[in-house]
Amino acid sequence: MENDVTLAQIEFRNVTKTYGPVVAVNDLFLSVRCGEFLTILGPSGSGKTTTLMLLAGFEAPDRGDIFIAGKSVAAVPSYRRDQGIVFQSYALFPHLNVGRNLEFPLEMRGIKAAERAKRVDSILARVHLNGLENRMPSQLSGGQQQRVALARALIADPPILLLDEPLGALDRNLREQMQSEIKSLHKEFGITTVCVTHDQEEALTLSDRIVVMRGGRIEQTDTPEAIYDRPATQFVAKFLGEANILENPGFLIESEAAQPPGTVAMIRPERICVAALDAPKRVDSEQCQFVTGTVENMIYAGPLRKYHVRVGPTLLVVREHVASGRRALQAGEAARLEWLRSDVRFVAA
Ligand code: ADP
Ligand code: MG
Repeated sequence: MENDVTLAQIEFRNVTKTYGPVVAVNDLFLSVRCGEFLTILGPSGSGKTTTLMLLAGFEAPDRGDIFIAGKSVAAVPSYRRDQGIVFQSYALFPHLNVGRNLEFPLEMRGIKAAERAKRVDSILARVHLNGLENRMPSQLSGGQQQRVALARALIADPPILLLDEPLGALDRNLREQMQSEIKSLHKEFGITTVCVTHDQEEALTLSDRIVVMRGGRIEQTDTPEAIYDRPATQFVAKFLGEANILENPGFLIESEAAQPPGTVAMIRPERICVAALDAPKRVDSEQCQFVTGTVENMIYAGPLRKYHVRVGPTLLVVREHVASGRRALQAGEAARLEWLRSDVRFVAA
């Protein structure tokens, strides 16, 4: 359609937004590439929604500027920014049926009735809600309402899509289903998408790149793989999943690289193997570090076993796939922990 993805480059330069004493967004530099799915991830209160509101034009920066396709949008009101928006609460018009909800953005753009009807049919098919145009929002499930909200954001074919915790209100199974739906819609439409979430799994699943925010600032921007596997800071490491911090140098840390000043050593629980003392060591044991500890507990979690193993003063978390064939160790049992030295990361403390 008329969707021109070359128009979708977004750039924040020096953007600051305060609410009284609170600096919600602090000197933010951020750029979003054309067609990219970028997720802003961070704990509650880190400034994610404010960032999105600034981009949507519902809030104005105190300082700095936002550019879309190279042009400042400071003077462009939100309804002229040509962005589709989906919020956590479905925000469908409760008194309008699905078809009328979907037509709304088209009416705003002065599109004629016949064309509107055609687009409603086509978008409903794309989100697998064919035939539901006469239902009222209250007659739809949460997942269906969220699909309609997504369809409404996409129907006018905007170059930019903004999502604020779009799946937060859905239960786990539905959320996973909607995640893959959003992903395939993103592929199909090639729309530049900025998504806000506090859910690390959602960010890892959906994004081309992730921006981790903390206290109104960006902590790290990277691909999902890099953010998870090579976190820059301890905060990012812990926000993206479980992280063992290896506190006592020399004893626990034998890394391939020297430890830079101001960093701590970190290893993910799934990078550690736990075995009974008499179990055979790994084949590539030259690259491995071995330490002996005591199992404090084992938590069974379906396909996984999660252990807490004490090594001196340090309690390490180990996650093991049951398919690895090793027997479960019991609380109180002595165990050998093994990991590859190359799996140790140094992250800014
Ligand atoms: P997030 O979406 O990451 O949870 P927000 O952007 O909503 O964070 O909020 C960032 C900070 O700004 C928080 O401390 C929040 O309390 C504050 N804040 C957000 N919106 C307002 C507002 N309208 N008035 C006052 N403070 C606000
Ligand atoms: Mg928010």
